[in-house]
Amino acid sequence: MPELPEVQTTVSFLNKKLKNKKIEKVVVLSAKQFLGNPQKLVGKTIRRVERRGKLIVFVLEKKLFLLIHLKLTGQLVFAASLRDKKATFPEPLPFAGGKVLPGKSTRIILYLFPQGAVFFNDLRKFGWMKVGGESLLKKETAALGVEPLSAEFNPQYLEKIFAKTKRAVKIVLMDQHLIAGVGNIYANEALCRAGISPQRPANKLTAEEIRKLCRAIKEVLKEGIKFRGTSAADDAYVQPNGRQGRFQKYLQVYQREGEKCFRCGGKIKRINLGGRGTFFCPRCQR
Ligand SMILES: [Zn+2]
Repeated sequence: MPELPEVQTTVSFLNKKLKNKKIEKVVVLSAKQFLGNPQKLVGKTIRRVERRGKLIVFVLEKKLFLLIHLKLTGQLVFAASLRDKKATFPEPLPFAGGKVLPGKSTRIILYLFPQGAVFFNDLRKFGWMKVGGESLLKKETAALGVEPLSAEFNPQYLEKIFAKTKRAVKIVLMDQHLIAGVGNIYANEALCRAGISPQRPANKLTAEEIRKLCRAIKEVLKEGIKFRGTSAADDAYVQPNGRQGRFQKYLQVYQREGEKCFRCGGKIKRINLGGRGTFFCPRCQR
């Protein structure tokens, strides 16, 4: 699932390309994934594209918002120009059935004026688009926790949320109501860097461990953004230009079960924690 670095990469790219562009036409191929009236978007200018947690926000003129959640397998792919309403990319797009869009996983298309398009592809169909005013934006963002790259996210904040719960620290890191944007990949990686077992009850972490973990979270997210996200082995994520991210080359534990720990040479272990594959080095992470 795309997390903060993947969504930020998508948002930064689209913001550059879509700023002040007009939406000419909306084609909804999977009705359950578009909530609201798609016609409201027609003729509207996109002012900018923003991120909140894992949510993508198109800020349109006249206080209109298009909210997009990629969920498990969503992709937003941009084509500057089209030929016969089709776009061809340099590499095959995961799950789309080739290099040409619309592909078999394309669910919604935003055609732009005077040319270009944004393709919303989603194999599993859990992702969605919603169109509405400020009340919709408020409703969809009200429950989101602190942004982990903001100053508000600091050891004091982590200490406060950890003190209240015996839940495993990794599960707390992925709770979007507390921290917005950290998911499975970056929670695994941050805990590895901080040398903390994902299974530790959150309220048992020491002040020193919390300080290390806070720094590790910010570090892995910033590196994830720098390398334009993680396109893991079984993952749908691509940048809006159709190319893979590169952070998968720098992962220390995620999806490395049975491989050697870069620090101690021991074997990386995989367990199931809260229904998610959890990877760690039992020797380095206590
Ligand atoms: Zn190790």
